[in-house]
Amino acid sequence: MKIIQDFIPKGRINRPGVKNFCTSITIHDTANKEKGADAAAHAEYIKTIKDRTSWHYTVDDHSIHQHLPDEEKSYHTSRSIANETSISIELCVNEGGDFEKTLENAAWLVRELRRKHGIEIANIKTHRDWTGKNCPASIDNEQWIAFIERCAEEEKYITIDELREMGYVGVRI
Ligand SMILES: [Zn+2]
Repeated sequence: MKIIQDFIPKGRINRPGVKNFCTSITIHDTANKEKGADAAAHAEYIKTIKDRTSWHYTVDDHSIHQHLPDEEKSYHTSRSIANETSISIELCVNEGGDFEKTLENAAWLVRELRRKHGIEIANIKTHRDWTGKNCPASIDNEQWIAFIERCAEEEKYITIDELREMGYVGVRI
């Protein structure tokens, strides 16, 4: 897949220019069910935000848009430790979108980012893991397990139980 880079302009309040250590990846969903609320729409919207809200990527069923360089902090949670160490991904949940395809595209992106930054499968997190917020609200436990298995695709012999033994704690029970 192609990643469309369309960065928030430097100097905006939601692009602080602070280092992100890229030691984990955090999955969110936009919670925006409106028709047309796809990745391109969020790429425009994020440039108009006037508070400390931002994230690195938005994924929908046909595209991936990048809003910030990985190595720059985003304001995707209320915790600095998350904002300064994690690459943040928003999944679109717009009406008419194919969410299974969105999950497939997001898993591709996660595999790319894991390769690029050497991120362990145990460090794929949800917004909920950091703060307890119900996000991503549109992913149920079964979908999350399937997603994590896809993110680990190249590690052919690893099962979800083995992931848990390795310290993976992102699955909701
Ligand atoms: Zn979130």
